[in-house]
Amino acid sequence: MANTTGQPILGIIVPCYNEEEVLTETMKRLQQQLTGLVESGRISGKSFAAYVDDGSRDKTWEIIQETSKNNPQVKGVKLSRNFGHQGALLAGMNAFMESSDCIITIDADLQDDINVIGEMVDKFREGFHIVYGVRKKRKTDTFFKRFTALRFYKLMKWLGVDIVYNHADYRLISRLVLQKFTDFREVNIFLRGIFPLIGFPSTSVYYDRLERFAGESKYPLKKMMAFAFDGISSFSVKPLRIVSVIGLIVFLLSIAMALYSLYSYFFLGTVPGWTSITLPVYFISGIQILCIGIIGEYLGKVYTEVKARPRFIIENILQ
Ligand code: UDP
Ligand code: MG
Repeated sequence: MANTTGQPILGIIVPCYNEEEVLTETMKRLQQQLTGLVESGRISGKSFAAYVDDGSRDKTWEIIQETSKNNPQVKGVKLSRNFGHQGALLAGMNAFMESSDCIITIDADLQDDINVIGEMVDKFREGFHIVYGVRKKRKTDTFFKRFTALRFYKLMKWLGVDIVYNHADYRLISRLVLQKFTDFREVNIFLRGIFPLIGFPSTSVYYDRLERFAGESKYPLKKMMAFAFDGISSFSVKPLRIVSVIGLIVFLLSIAMALYSLYSYFFLGTVPGWTSITLPVYFISGIQILCIGIIGEYLGKVYTEVKARPRFIIENILQ
């Protein structure tokens, strides 16, 4: 059970998908952080790091098992298959919610500076319930990643979604916020959009994003785009509204077109040309298909939400 007095129990949740190249080093570094924080009296000695194996096909789970054998501060969760980054985070947070006072989620590649963990804990002790880790600069990311990420944040803002700029999934959350979070039952979950919705006092800490020290990104362009669209359609119905506006504009244009053809029929006496027939056909049917596609995306989302399938399945837990 979690502490009610004294130092808080901190649980660090680390999603891992095929991370055998970085995991040993990551575990070592996080352990050093934990030990340092315990020694300086900022967190309880019962604090731990929990590694969530998201259906890896390499030695990730073996490494987790091996390390947790000799170290009570290392815990593990094995998912039954690959559920994706967000699913892995959810599984970890759910599994260790009750045994910690606050939880920090961080990627296995340690691109997010673990030296601010202490600062996050201090903010929690000051009374903040959510502490966002925010990147100062993105100079270690490729130009492409930086550019697409910036566009995405701007787009989300324009669509009316409240997300913290340059914040990914590196954050501290109190147990209270996590308990409230369990009321959000959506299957298509976009964590970084949800926490600002929960409320409670929140703050940010700032750090420089480092380079992956080994292995490669598990987010290729295709996954990144799917993630971005998921974020948008989970939080905003604005695209549907845009579809209606396009529909209205096309409708007005076609009225103008009708008036023009009547005018030329009666007063110019010309047979309407090929261009004025084919152009609108292509134009309007193109727009229609686009709009149906956007509506279909939302319908698909409703479909998966209605089925309410589990968001993750835990095969094994090393407590
Ligand atoms: N990850 C996961 N499941 C997946 C893909 C990624 O658990 O299907 C984890 C991965 O192991 C890492 C984190 O999510 O800890 C972020 O992935 P990555 O570093 O590849 O993303 P990037 O930093 O390039 O956005
Ligand atoms: Mg990374």
